[in-house]
Amino acid sequence: MNWKFTPIAIPVLIASLIAIFMLVYTWQRRSMRGARPLLPLMMGLVIWLVGSTLEAMAFDYNARLFWSNFQFIGVVMVPTAWFMFSLMFTDRAAVLTRANLSLLLIMPLLTLILLWTSPWQQFFQVSKVLNTTGPNPYWEWVPGPGFWIHTAYSYLMLIAGFVILVRGYRQSSRLHRRQISVMLLGAAVPWIANILFVVVRVSPFDYTPISFLITALAIAWGIFKVGLVEITPIIRKRVIDEMQDGVVVLDEQNRILEANPAVLRMVNMTEDVLGQPIDDVLARWPELLKRFRGRPRSQDEVSLTFDNGETRHYQVSLSPLRDKNDHLTGQLLMVHEITRLKQTEASLLEAKEAAEAASRAKSTFLATMSHELRTPLAAIIGYSELIQERSEAWGYEKIVPHLKQIGTAAQGLNFLIGNILDLSKIEAERMDVILTEFSVPDLVNEVINNVKPQVAKNNNLLELDLAPDLAIMHTDRTKLRQILLNLLGNAAKFTSEGTICLAARRNNATGCLMFTVRDTGEGISDEMMNKIFQPFVQADSSFTRVHGGSGLGLAISSRFCEMLGGTIEVQSQVGEGTTFVVKLPVQAALTPRPGPENGRSEGAMQQ
Ligand code: ADP
Repeated sequence: MNWKFTPIAIPVLIASLIAIFMLVYTWQRRSMRGARPLLPLMMGLVIWLVGSTLEAMAFDYNARLFWSNFQFIGVVMVPTAWFMFSLMFTDRAAVLTRANLSLLLIMPLLTLILLWTSPWQQFFQVSKVLNTTGPNPYWEWVPGPGFWIHTAYSYLMLIAGFVILVRGYRQSSRLHRRQISVMLLGAAVPWIANILFVVVRVSPFDYTPISFLITALAIAWGIFKVGLVEITPIIRKRVIDEMQDGVVVLDEQNRILEANPAVLRMVNMTEDVLGQPIDDVLARWPELLKRFRGRPRSQDEVSLTFDNGETRHYQVSLSPLRDKNDHLTGQLLMVHEITRLKQTEASLLEAKEAAEAASRAKSTFLATMSHELRTPLAAIIGYSELIQERSEAWGYEKIVPHLKQIGTAAQGLNFLIGNILDLSKIEAERMDVILTEFSVPDLVNEVINNVKPQVAKNNNLLELDLAPDLAIMHTDRTKLRQILLNLLGNAAKFTSEGTICLAARRNNATGCLMFTVRDTGEGISDEMMNKIFQPFVQADSSFTRVHGGSGLGLAISSRFCEMLGGTIEVQSQVGEGTTFVVKLPVQAALTPRPGPENGRSEGAMQQ
């Protein structure tokens, strides 16, 4: 075989080498979605270019004919592969069913058969003679109808691919537009060269292969500069574009392959960041880069301060992207803006702190005021009793009822202030629990003696149902007394001409004493039931005027039960009556209350 190096082969050779390199590069990344559409196109191009290079260097008729025929494999492959590329790139690969693919391949295969089999060759090319008169031999040939059919088919494929890509261009992002532009340029140049050679016949030389140098360079630029292999198809990208959360895709070199509009809006940036290293894009927030470096998977909250002084907060999660073989191909960054959430959180915290401070101030005020009020009140009560006693002896009986009224009102006020003081002490966590051992029947008798006058006032009957084994209890006697007095006082207040029953039982299994206060009075509505343990809540104001009270008794009783490790429950039916059940441990345990320094202090009592 006669080989000779000719200058005309140089650009084709360079284009071949670039195309081979790109084919190998794309093949190695064939698992990536972007590589697949490129592969058939690159293969066709390589065959065409290699055939063309060897044809240009072969000075022997047979060798030249062989390489000319060989390169036709590429010639017929490229337009069809181009059409397939345009479909796959715009996410229409579903059209390429097996049946459609077979249809697409009929023409290229037929062309090759016509060209390669001698009886049919005539149909493709009427004559083909090698002109060796000049320094660069060339074929003088007369195309047959087969050639024109092949050309028409190829041009049809090229046009269809162009139309599909141009339409995809309109719908895509700037990154995809750059990729599509590169491909359109890469295809347009050799196509023009081909038109000049085949249709216009400006020169006997076919410059199409030489012009593939532009194609190879365009694709190389596309692969290395605009991530042509790593691309995500357009439709998928549209889904990402519509997302409210930010999505950023980084490649192995930490370049930004994808950044959806949401993330660009969040950080006040444009699509210019595409293709740039993330380190450059986020250079003004170095701590941020440091925080995420070397952590392929992480989740964190970050705050960015912008030029206008505004600070925004984000929830960022970083996860690795791997290919089928588990090789790291990049990273996925999901960004969720939480600025408003943070602002609401901060104002809620502020409001909570303000409310707590106000509540503490209120409790301190009440505690102080209660003390201040009680001292003069004690004097009023004491002196009104004294004057009452003396006035009878001095013969001023007339003023006795008025003095009694002063005494009763002052007692009522004293009771109310006592309740307010108790509640404010509980809320300020300053209420002490004093545990003592005492006889339960003794306590019950004392309470009963106290409430008897109240019960009798509304013509009520008082029943006692005490188990014989009540024995002793170890708890805060004063608090238990107050609870029972409250419950029995309420029962007497809200019942008239009915029965009030106090029952007490010991449950050895749970170690609790159960006190039940039952009445046949007014009852409590369902709506009120949820509120009666809240301070200052009463069934209705008109009732209050009849029965008096402040709405504090149950609030205090339920807090006391809690402090003694027990519970209080209520059941009621309007018009039928109410039952309160108090369960308290026979042996109350002391829980240390939080101390000022370490949160807990030894020996201090609960609340
Ligand atoms: P008050 O000082 O008003 O009695 P309490 O906290 O003891 O305050 O009770 C709150 C409200 O619960 C009462 O105003 C009343 O409406 C309702 N209540 C409590 N006990 C009874 C009861 N035995 N029967 C009907 N209503 C009751």
